Amino acid sequence: MTSNWNEWYAERPRPERDHISQVFWDGLRDGELRYQACPECSTVQFYPRAICTGCGGDPEWRSSTGHGTVHTFTVVRQHGSAPFKSQTPYVVAMIDVEPGFRMMGNVVDVDVDDVVIDMPVQVEFVRVDDELTIPVWRPIDRAIRS
Ligand SMILES: [Zn+2]
Repeated sequence: MTSNWNEWYAERPRPERDHISQVFWDGLRDGELRYQACPECSTVQFYPRAICTGCGGDPEWRSSTGHGTVHTFTVVRQHGSAPFKSQTPYVVAMIDVEPGFRMMGNVVDVDVDDVVIDMPVQVEFVRVDDELTIPVWRPIDRAIRS
């Protein structure tokens, strides 16, 4: 089990961002997990895009509850490069997030052998610095509720 996620994220390559995804990153900084939904056709989408993937319309930003379930995952037990090798073993998962989008993230503060598909998880925000906050996923029975 590992717990120094903010230090680890600080050592990792920083995520790319642009004028569209900056809204997502700003949301994380403010404690919101933002996604896009289309007011015309109700398509929910993630990652952030300039247009709706359903109809080509103009998507708007909304805030998720941050509840999700593990869709699938892998356990990284070996890694040859710093800083990744310092955090092994760790879980990289695809999370199905309410109300219906999927995103990748780490499942944290759990024995990697206890992670299962369909496990309920709750987003938490790991503040790295003023510019970067990373969403991570904690099994819901261990989630810190706010
Ligand atoms: Zn649409």
